[in-house]
Amino acid sequence: MNHNLTAERPTFVTHLECSMTGERYEADRLHGLSRVGRPLLVRYDLDMAKAAVPRALVEARPTDLWRWRELLPVRHTDNIVSLGEIQTPLVPIPVSGGARVLVKDEGRLPTGSFKARGLVMAVSMAKELGVKRIAMPTNGNAGAALAAYASRCGIETVAFCPDDTPEINVREIALQGARVYRVNGLIDDCGAIVGKGAADGLWFDLSTLKEPYRIEGKKTMGLELAAQFGWQLPDAIFYPTGGGTGLIGMWKAFAELEALGWIGAKRPKMFAVQASGCAPIVKAFDDGAEHADRWEGAHTIASGIRVPRAVGDFLILRAVRESGGIAMAVDDAAIEDAVVRCAREDGLLLCPEGGATLAAYHAARERGLVGADDKVVLFNCATGLKYPMPDQSKTLDRHGEIDLAAL
Ligand SMILES: *Cc1c(COP(=O)(O)O)cnc(C)c1O
Repeated sequence: MNHNLTAERPTFVTHLECSMTGERYEADRLHGLSRVGRPLLVRYDLDMAKAAVPRALVEARPTDLWRWRELLPVRHTDNIVSLGEIQTPLVPIPVSGGARVLVKDEGRLPTGSFKARGLVMAVSMAKELGVKRIAMPTNGNAGAALAAYASRCGIETVAFCPDDTPEINVREIALQGARVYRVNGLIDDCGAIVGKGAADGLWFDLSTLKEPYRIEGKKTMGLELAAQFGWQLPDAIFYPTGGGTGLIGMWKAFAELEALGWIGAKRPKMFAVQASGCAPIVKAFDDGAEHADRWEGAHTIASGIRVPRAVGDFLILRAVRESGGIAMAVDDAAIEDAVVRCAREDGLLLCPEGGATLAAYHAARERGLVGADDKVVLFNCATGLKYPMPDQSKTLDRHGEIDLAAL
C-alpha cells in the first residue's frame, strides 16, 4: 500500500489539551477525559507543519484519509490499521434537495458508516499505545467499526447496545469479532457499564469523546470538504448530531487549515440537526445555555442521533453559534418522507440520519436561514442499506395470465 508518507516526520502532534480549561497533557500516553471530565483535544505544531508540508504535497497524494497524516495523531505508520478509508463523494440531489445541494455520502466507507473515520484513528492509536482490550457503548455503527478495526489488529472488544438496536447492527458487530450485549436502557446507560469496567481496569473506554482520537478521525471530513471545494468552504453544512464528534472535528479542521494558510477565514454556517424525539442540543441552543440537560424519554427512528446526553455539548454549541448556524429538530415523519423523496427522485438511498439533514435543509430554507444560491452540504452518515425499509413488494402468479402492459 502506498500512502506516500513522510516516514521520518509523520505527524506534528505536540500535546493534548483540555477542551474546557486548556490544561496540557502529554502526547503519546493513554488518556481518557481531562481532570474536569471533559474531552481532550490533540494539538499540533502548525507553524512547523506549514513550513514542512506544502498544500500541493497533500494534493499530489492519493485522496484517501491518510493523505492528511501530518495532521493526524498516529506516530508510527506501522500502527495504521486500514480497511481502505476512501475520500467520500459529494453527490448532487437536484430534485429532492436543490441545484446547489450536495450529499457527502459517508455510507461508502468501511463498515458502511462514517464511524470508520473515528474508529480507524482511535484503534490505530490504541494499538500504538499498547491497549489490549476495548469496550464501548454503541447504537450500532460505532460498534461495527470498532469491531472491524480492532479485530484486524488483534485487540479484544466488548460492545454494549441499547436493547432496541437494529438486529443487523448487533449481528454485524458480533460477526466482526466483538462480544456484544443488548442492554435494557439507552446509550448513556450502556456508557455507565463501560465506565464501571474501565474504572475496574477491565478494558479501555472508547466512548464518543471520552478518548481523544475519534475527533481527529472525524476531523478528516472537514479536511476533505476543503479539498473537494477547492479550498473555499461551502456556505452551510447540515450535520446529524448525536455525540457531535463530527461537527466538533470539522470545526477543529477548519481552524487548523486556516492556521496552515490553506483556507481563508470564511466558515460555513453549521446546522446541528437532531430528531424532535431527542433534541438536547436544540433545547440548549434555544435556551441560550452553554451545556445541555439530559433528554428524557429519547425516541427516534434515527438511532445514530438518539443520544440523550453529549459530553462535548458545549463544544457543539460553541461551534454552531460561532458559525452563525443553528441547532434544529425534525420529526420522524419528516425524516421518513425525506428518505423516500431522495431515493425516488434522485436515486440516492439515505440513512434516516441523512434524511434528517435533508428535512432540516428544507425547514431552514423555509425559515430563510439558507438561500437557493447557497452551496450546501448534507451529511449522509451511513449506508441506507443498514436500516429497515418499508415493504413495497408485489407478487405475480407465473401460472396465470399476466397483464404485462399494466406492470
Ligand atoms: C454516530 C452517528 C451519527 C452521529 O454522529 P456524531 O458525530 O456522534 O454526532 C449520525 N448518524 C449516524 C448514522 C451515526 O452512526
